[in-house]
Amino acid sequence: MMSFLDDNFLLQTETAQQLYHAHAKHMPIIDYHCHLSPKDIAEDRRFKNLTEIWLEGDHYKWRAMRTNGIPEKYCTGDADDYAKFEKWAQTVPYTVRNPLYHWTHMELKKPFGIEKILKPETAREIYDDCTAMLQTNAFSVRGILQKMNVEIICTTDDPIDSLEYHQKIKADNFGVQVLPTFRADKAMAIELPEVFLPYLQKLEEASGVSIGTFQQLLDALKQRHDFFHELGGRLSDHGLETIYAEEYTEAEVKAIFEKALNKQQLSQEEVLKFKSAMLVELALLDHAKGWTQQFHLGALRNNNTRMMRELGPDTGFDSIGDFDVARPLSRFMDKLDNSDQLAKTILYNLNPSQNELYATMIGNFNDGSTPGKIQFGSAWWFLDQKDGMEKQMNALSNMGLLSRFVGMLTDSRSFLSYPRHEYFRRILCNLIGNDVESGELPASEMEWYGQMVENICYNNAKNYFNF
Ligand SMILES: [Zn+2]
Repeated sequence: MMSFLDDNFLLQTETAQQLYHAHAKHMPIIDYHCHLSPKDIAEDRRFKNLTEIWLEGDHYKWRAMRTNGIPEKYCTGDADDYAKFEKWAQTVPYTVRNPLYHWTHMELKKPFGIEKILKPETAREIYDDCTAMLQTNAFSVRGILQKMNVEIICTTDDPIDSLEYHQKIKADNFGVQVLPTFRADKAMAIELPEVFLPYLQKLEEASGVSIGTFQQLLDALKQRHDFFHELGGRLSDHGLETIYAEEYTEAEVKAIFEKALNKQQLSQEEVLKFKSAMLVELALLDHAKGWTQQFHLGALRNNNTRMMRELGPDTGFDSIGDFDVARPLSRFMDKLDNSDQLAKTILYNLNPSQNELYATMIGNFNDGSTPGKIQFGSAWWFLDQKDGMEKQMNALSNMGLLSRFVGMLTDSRSFLSYPRHEYFRRILCNLIGNDVESGELPASEMEWYGQMVENICYNNAKNYFNF
């Protein structure tokens, strides 16, 4: 019997073990998409206890706790920190076969060095030990990032952000590069005047461009895009149900924007035309600067109206959607490719039944300029687990080139999520190891598989993004 979480965790063959230990394990981490707080990094935050660093903001854990019958008070409510942790410890044994069970114990092992299983009997001891460690320099935010061998982090930022924390981090030069990512979702939210109009005001302030026309909106966004670029930003990101790719004319979009400024009601068609135009304009900015555009597609968000009202978004009430994906994606990328202005693109899919659709779509628009120019992004959110990652990598292998994959990212809000890179690397090595040991790949080419693993873990991303 193999043992839980030992050195060869998830590595079922000797070949897999060799690939992981000789090639994957020591590669630095490029976390090119996450939601870590730049403020916490700039201030080198110290967390006062394990609850604060582990449960605060973690909607995966809250969701499991709710499913386990734990009242909201212990998830997002006002229960005290230890009481919340106790409820989490009670829930952990019930998460068997959910990735939370693996993540929890990997995160205790690294960085804390704790190999006990978390359950009610061990809760107090684990809480006290971790909380004590969190008081030391080695467990400040920067201490943890260095311990986890993180080289580059790309946070997710609004165009109106002053990036003051990024500037401070850059000036401190503490060994981890922290770069901003341009996520302009709010600039597209024309259907929500209560969000959109105040947002335009803030964008005016941030950019110094007064926004009375669609062109001025684009000018303001370009000004911010330039600013992000100066601070090392090389990626944009969009969180969308699906790509918007309606036909529109410049005159129509101008008129729609003016209607919105005048607080006139817009039709669904007008909203879609505007969003379609914005996606293209933002994509052009990315292309002009050699950036990579990312699209996180397929989430059906905020399903629970009552909890949305009480807690707001990103609190654990989202699920997988079933949107029409192929045609709009094709039209959007084709429109840009047609004038040779398609930026490097990463498509993240949330619906596993669409994996093959994505794996084939990315092959339509490669042009020989960059290896793996159009990427099928790593298994995301609900799919960020062993089965989901294997399925994503199998689809990519079957229909594209796994060897050109830019690999894993955490997409996390927690500084303790870095073991997810280790999880991914073990799964990757295991897949290749199985193929070698079953004779589906020649054992003579081990040197190349080792190189390929190093590439997927690190080199591909390093070469792809131009940081
Ligand atoms: Zn994200």
